[in-house]
Amino acid sequence: MSYSSSFWEKDSFLKPYDLAIVGAGIVGLSSALFYKQQNPSARVAVLERGFLPQGASTRNAGFACVGSIGEHLADMEKDSEENIKERIKRRYEGLELLKQTLGEEAIGYEHCGGYEFFKSRKKFEKVSAQIDRFNGWMRALINENEVYSKDELQGYPVIRNRLEGALHPGKMMEALAKKVSSVGVDIKWNSRVEDATKDGIVSIANGLEIESDKVLFAANGFVQRLLPELEINPARGFVMVTNEQENFPWKGIFHHDRGYVYFRNVGNRLLIGGARNLDKEGEQTDQFGTNGTIKLHLKEFVSGVLGCGSDWNIDYEWSGIMGFSPTKTPIVKQLDRNRFVAAGLSGMGIAIGMEVGRGVSEMLES
Ligand SMILES: Cc1cc2nc3c(=O)[nH]c(=O)nc-3n(C[C@H](O)[C@H](O)[C@H](O)COP(=O)(O)OP(=O)(O)OC[C@H]3O[C@@H](n4cnc5c(N)ncnc54)[C@H](O)[C@@H]3O)c2cc1C
Repeated sequence: MSYSSSFWEKDSFLKPYDLAIVGAGIVGLSSALFYKQQNPSARVAVLERGFLPQGASTRNAGFACVGSIGEHLADMEKDSEENIKERIKRRYEGLELLKQTLGEEAIGYEHCGGYEFFKSRKKFEKVSAQIDRFNGWMRALINENEVYSKDELQGYPVIRNRLEGALHPGKMMEALAKKVSSVGVDIKWNSRVEDATKDGIVSIANGLEIESDKVLFAANGFVQRLLPELEINPARGFVMVTNEQENFPWKGIFHHDRGYVYFRNVGNRLLIGGARNLDKEGEQTDQFGTNGTIKLHLKEFVSGVLGCGSDWNIDYEWSGIMGFSPTKTPIVKQLDRNRFVAAGLSGMGIAIGMEVGRGVSEMLES
């Protein structure tokens, strides 16, 4: 006889859930946390295909940032000023919520400041001419004065943002997973969801099926595999970390070229990533991997622009998969009677992911 679930299993582990969440990234886990805190007697499961989260939340750069002026100006070419202001506020408040919920120490937070870095003085002059305007926004949005200021580092012009910092994505997600488990949510690792029907039957790749009253799809860059009709495109991001370097001069988080290139220190190491814009089409994929053109560009940037000399090498490199909505605003909505989606964090999910999760929990209640 083939394998079938026992009476005991059906009356315990496999009892129907009130909420099943697909994906244990920052959005899936935060949604589980807030929902369970609001509904202590609810049975909640998070189903994750990997042995650990396997998308973007543990594979990003760890910038706790609201974005550079250059990024916001570029975004305003395809979105309204009101939406950009809303996004900045959301990022700021999302980071505050993250720090309060998990604690700064647990997430490895360092308040190091953020910098928009320019190779060209001409571009710097153009973007820095907007500093007063953006400082006015920050005053009105979050009641903070003089957030942005001009500065110079290693001979390059920069715009400093005094509110930004860095965190450790691995520690952050580990702390979040522990907290979610501690409130009584079942996190099921190595459980790839193949389908979740309108009737609440969730099929898992190992052949098991569970029932759930509500299902939330929080699979971000992979969500189209389950819901092809959603307008969320995958986007791969590349990151590398160098060996430790003596007298390493770059301290803080750095944005460059409208946010496409980013770098920071991790102790005395340099982390650098991005440049997806060099091959946007090729990087619109949910397959992990390395694009040779992008890697070469970043290596040249390290040697030629950041002046790291010839004795640096790459100790670690990896990719992560993001999900982009058409305007960068996440898609958080009800699909039918029992199915919901929260995806399309568009490269800023560390900042807004937990806040999105809190919003999801409210949506599930209503
Ligand atoms: C290289 C890189 C750098 C970044 N840097 C920053 C940064 O500095 N600051 C910032 O704010 N944001 C950054 N981001 C973006 C941020 O990491 C993401 O927006 C955020 O992690 C998205 O969280 P999520 O929970 O929506 O998705 P994910 O973390 O991708 O979680 C989705 C989960 O769903 C799982 N899954 C997928 N399909 C299934 C299935 N069928 N069954 C079960 N599980 C499934 C995946 O394995 C994954 O764990 C970066 C992203 C990348 C890739």
